Amino acid sequence: MIHSDNKQLSFEFFPTKTDEGRQKLSITRQQLNQFKPDFFSCTYGAGGSTRAGTLQTIQDILTEQNTPATPHLACIGSSQEEVKELVDLYQSMGIKQILCLRGDIPSGIGIVDGFTYASELVTFIKQEYQDTVKLIVAAYPEIHPQARSADDDIQNFIRKCEAGADSAITQYFYNIDAYFYFLDEIHARGIDIPVVPGIMPIASFSKLARFSDICGAEIPRWLKLKLQSYADDTASIKSLGLDFVTDLCDRLLRQGAPGLHFYTLNQAGLVSTICERLGC
Ligand code: FAD
Repeated sequence: MIHSDNKQLSFEFFPTKTDEGRQKLSITRQQLNQFKPDFFSCTYGAGGSTRAGTLQTIQDILTEQNTPATPHLACIGSSQEEVKELVDLYQSMGIKQILCLRGDIPSGIGIVDGFTYASELVTFIKQEYQDTVKLIVAAYPEIHPQARSADDDIQNFIRKCEAGADSAITQYFYNIDAYFYFLDEIHARGIDIPVVPGIMPIASFSKLARFSDICGAEIPRWLKLKLQSYADDTASIKSLGLDFVTDLCDRLLRQGAPGLHFYTLNQAGLVSTICERLGC
């Protein structure tokens, strides 16, 4: 369904800290590579905190899977020189696409200078590298938690598009209407870049609830209550999560979403089952 309909499929990882983690991630990628993704992406810690790990993961993807790799680049806390050095390096590695983000500065770390918003990063990379690298940005159908208002957040998204973003990936969401309403809003403002839904599989309730609170993703009341009622019964949580998320993906694709981007959390299991059920 994904490939036959020319839709995009991608999987996101985060850099590992140990050799053992790196080996496990390599196996995860091998398992997910069977779905012929358009690219694997790797996150980047704001302020350059995972610079070496992100670079290592991107290099591993290129050498082990021969699948296109898309590094994330979170600009807050980095100078133009640091960004340029990194993008130069990526260009020398043959990277064709970068996910441009602001990032979240960990508490306790002061910002000295450099970029404030992702739109500034997009402007800077476009100026320096023109169209030699494609730029993806983040989108928030349920509104970024720090946005001054819903309209401000849409304006910010438009700013990133006008700065030169080629496509976008959303924060994960479980309310499908929020995604299509977001598309209607940006289309009405003349923005027509592909906005790929970010998909978060459901493995545990407490972790998901905590993370969703932070990033502003709403867990629908009925789903939250059902997941909560399973308490420590992880098999039931996973089973409901798989049914729910597979149905979400299916409806998104049928209703015109241009593809799916999975937040894998470095695990292949749930994502593989969803992809198999979707016939990817
Ligand atoms: P921005 O687009 O800069 O927006 C941040 C906030 O500022 C928003 O509330 C926006 O409305 C507001 N804003 C923007 N411009 C202005 C302006 N000119 N005036 C006033 N307000 C403004 N984080 C990481 O650290 N590393 C990663 O690898 C990473 N990967 C991600 C991948 C995806 C697909 C997504 C959706 C998120 C990812 N994140 C990552 C999280 C992201 O960095 C955070 O959500 C961060 O808080 C916002 O980043 P952004 O690029 O959306 O910021």
